[in-house]
Amino acid sequence: MSVQEIRLFGDPVLATPASPVITFDKELRNLVKDLTETMLDAPGAGLAAPQIGVSLQVFVWNIEESDGHLINPTLNLSAEMQDGEEGCLSFPGLVYETPRAFRAVAKGFNMHGEPVTIEGSELLARVFQHETDHLNGIVFIDRLLVEERKIAMSDIRNSEWFGNASAMGHTPIVRISPHQTNGLAL
Ligand code: ZN
Repeated sequence: MSVQEIRLFGDPVLATPASPVITFDKELRNLVKDLTETMLDAPGAGLAAPQIGVSLQVFVWNIEESDGHLINPTLNLSAEMQDGEEGCLSFPGLVYETPRAFRAVAKGFNMHGEPVTIEGSELLARVFQHETDHLNGIVFIDRLLVEERKIAMSDIRNSEWFGNASAMGHTPIVRISPHQTNGLAL
């Protein structure tokens, strides 16, 4: 078990839909541990397996009111929306106003293959949507309003980290301050 390298935007794994977990074995339990350790080390409020280069439908989260993991998730979203800022560990230092459903009911499995249903609103609902998007190859800037997205793309092009992945043949480990994203990095 160890802290893994976090893949950054530009890495193809982040644009690839992840495969469902079929075998609930020790390897899967180790993946959940690696995800959890990497998320806590970053630190982040959530992390999806593709962010550490594993294209499987697994994510973890850790916010004040709730922590856990979910495998092969599906979401039911409220029509009611919420406003709020959001960041991502794969976009170091960047936070944008990101519209999300206010409430989400997440269904999936735990690492032992037992079905679980978790209901969340506000930040927890936001985390579930952000991480489930990662499992579908979608990143949070895809959810921004048009004008905000233009700003984000410009910020990304001007960031120190963007382009390093392809130039170096691997993704660098970027340490971000816990204060930069105010616990909003997912
Ligand atoms: Zn993210």
